[in-house]
Amino acid sequence: MNALETITKEIRACTACDLHETRSQAVPGSGTSDAQIVFIGEAPGAQEDKRGLPFVGQAGKLLDQLLEGIGLDRDRVAILNVIKCRPPDNRPPRKSEIAACRHFLERQLDAIQPQLIVTLGRFSLVQFCPDVSITQVHGQVQRVDGRLIYPVYHPAAAFHRSVWRQALEKDFGRISEILASLQK
Ligand code: SF4
Repeated sequence: MNALETITKEIRACTACDLHETRSQAVPGSGTSDAQIVFIGEAPGAQEDKRGLPFVGQAGKLLDQLLEGIGLDRDRVAILNVIKCRPPDNRPPRKSEIAACRHFLERQLDAIQPQLIVTLGRFSLVQFCPDVSITQVHGQVQRVDGRLIYPVYHPAAAFHRSVWRQALEKDFGRISEILASLQK
């Protein structure tokens, strides 16, 4: 069992915060330790909680379309969430839950060592860049503690405002270019 598989096993058995009482199952994430790029969302929703996989609801379908648009599919990337268990009624995760769960994400990133981390939405972004606004920095690479963070809007938000959808598509369109520039 490699490091990522060990973390997955720990997440599935975790009872470190109250969310374990209301989840159907934990959602550790998808992808392998050789992924060059990691996408990070907030927390599982109802569909994810039911199936144990990240981004499998409506927002996940849009994520798949966006990946396809840049010649990627799920097999070539990793998809994670900051919080691994669904908050009831999709309420925002509490500080204590974020604190209890955060080490899993850090360990997953250490195991994968991605070239690029794409944060999906404000919540994910502020875990790495607490002092910035997503409206100001989306589509701009941020260097944080030796990591490259690329903030984009959350696919679920894109359903509500067409301007965010356009920005999301445009920002995704730059991912290949950014990855190519990292190979030089
Ligand atoms: Fe454990 Fe994270 Fe689930 Fe809380 S949300 S029970 S810390 S895996």
